[in-house]
Amino acid sequence: MGVTHSAPSWDAIVIGAGIGGLVTASQLATKGARTLVLERYLIPGGSAGSFDRPGYRFDVGASMIFGFGKRGTTNLLTRALVDVGEELDTIPDPVQLHYHLPDHLDLAVSRDYNTWIATLAEQFPDEVRGIRAFYDTCWQVFRCLDAIPLKSLEEPRYLAQVFFRNPLACLGLARWLPVNVGDVARRHIRDPQLLRLIDMECYCWSVMPADRTPMINGGMVFADRHAGGVNYPKGGVGEISRRLVRGLERHGGEIRYGARVSQVLLERNRAVGVILASGERLQARRVISNATRWDTFGSLVPEERIPRREKVWRRRYKPSPSFLSLHLGVQSRVIPPHSHCHHLLLERWEQMDGEQGTAFVSIPTLLDSDLAPPGRHIVHAFTPSDMKHWTGLSPSAYRRKKEAAAQQLVQRLSRLWPGLEGAIEHQDIGTPRTHRRFLGRSRGSYGPVPARHLPGLLPMPFNRTGIPGLYCVGDSCFPGQGLNAVAFSGYACSHRVAADLGLLSGPRIP
Ligand SMILES: Cc1cc2nc3c(=O)[nH]c(=O)nc-3n(C[C@H](O)[C@H](O)[C@H](O)COP(=O)(O)OP(=O)(O)OC[C@H]3O[C@@H](n4cnc5c(N)ncnc54)[C@H](O)[C@@H]3O)c2cc1C
Repeated sequence: MGVTHSAPSWDAIVIGAGIGGLVTASQLATKGARTLVLERYLIPGGSAGSFDRPGYRFDVGASMIFGFGKRGTTNLLTRALVDVGEELDTIPDPVQLHYHLPDHLDLAVSRDYNTWIATLAEQFPDEVRGIRAFYDTCWQVFRCLDAIPLKSLEEPRYLAQVFFRNPLACLGLARWLPVNVGDVARRHIRDPQLLRLIDMECYCWSVMPADRTPMINGGMVFADRHAGGVNYPKGGVGEISRRLVRGLERHGGEIRYGARVSQVLLERNRAVGVILASGERLQARRVISNATRWDTFGSLVPEERIPRREKVWRRRYKPSPSFLSLHLGVQSRVIPPHSHCHHLLLERWEQMDGEQGTAFVSIPTLLDSDLAPPGRHIVHAFTPSDMKHWTGLSPSAYRRKKEAAAQQLVQRLSRLWPGLEGAIEHQDIGTPRTHRRFLGRSRGSYGPVPARHLPGLLPMPFNRTGIPGLYCVGDSCFPGQGLNAVAFSGYACSHRVAADLGLLSGPRIP
């Protein structure tokens, strides 16, 4: 690797325009940092992007969106947009998720907390007190989080100030940090079927059962769905990243698409810039990677330079499976008008975390009909699938396998929407290979999950890495997957980088 001596043109280079990268970049730009985002693909957003097909706008991945609340401090998507002079109309979703589970368990999670508790109480009358106690504990966690400004937990002055102003909230959070949802659920609930439902309540966003899902994340999701609620961005989820890019540019930042970073430039083991796949070299005082930790260390940073703490992290966390995804355009006649937007389907409990076991469905046109031609709906269906099932196939075997898997998923969904198969007018099938190719994510993974039982969120790393000048942001950093979570990671990362660049008041670190 060549040594370069000219002054860096950029204060910060951000590798990747996912929500984590864009929140970091736009926040840094508002603090006066000369910021450049390099995105390998043609559009921003990563797993939270949208793509167009004639007449349709599909969401790449995420469509159940938290973080658009009006109050508190955890409404980080609202805040990230407002901070750069942007706003976005959102459509409140009255039901977070409609579960279609084994044993005829059919439940819809209402936006209204008491309605959800009443729904559960009706189904599990012997567990009424335990249900209240469990979900009320989630609210305790949420209230602590929602009381403090969420910035970098690696910045001692911020921590001291926050503790001084909100000692009870901070102590509350410290208490829950090493705890998993399963520990709390079992303290209050005995019914095995209800415990299985709570496993599913976790699995549907953490892709882990309750015993491996941190209580901080559980508290956040199980309360915020009734507080800020789930809200769909008008015009599709990709609007969030498009507006963050506009806000970034308004504050002097820049973005380049089709700019794949192949290497982080290291000088005396310090990150000083990047090398693009085209061979171009760019220098920066700080480099921030929005690629996953697996793609950052071992790909952008060569194997022999991987810091020891990253190797420890790899032993603790493994990549979750990817997905088999269907993006369908269907005739509206098969979707009753008052259906809910988000559904989860599982036929046998043992299959919850199995290959193509749990099926997730989103029909965002029930909230925003402009995303499809008149008389049509978008159906985005996806189910976990591991890369190992999709490698070593000839092109024709791969195509056949893909089509068979898609047909099987459509048949499962036809139980909920009879006639679906005959109403499909458009179909895109994505496999783990598609996720890897278009999102640049190792094995197409959804994100890191504990490789063994871990103490809550305690072992999840923050933004600094073992290489000075190099930071990570996004779903392989505290507090994990989901748009609001990676926005938190972005706020924390920009705060830590701004402090290191001397853009916050206080001493400057070179
Ligand atoms: C099918 C699916 C459904 C989901 N549903 C939901 C949901 O309903 N609600 C929710 O909150 N979350 C959901 N998620 C999770 C959520 O989308 C992610 O956790 C989040 O978007 C990850 O953001 P990120 O910034 O960490 O990274 P990413 O979205 O992965 O973005 C990283 C960006 O970096 C770019 N990049 C990578 N390497 C390079 C390189 N070398 N050079 C240049 N650019 C590079 C990539 O192209 C990408 O644009 C879902 C995810 C999937 C896949």
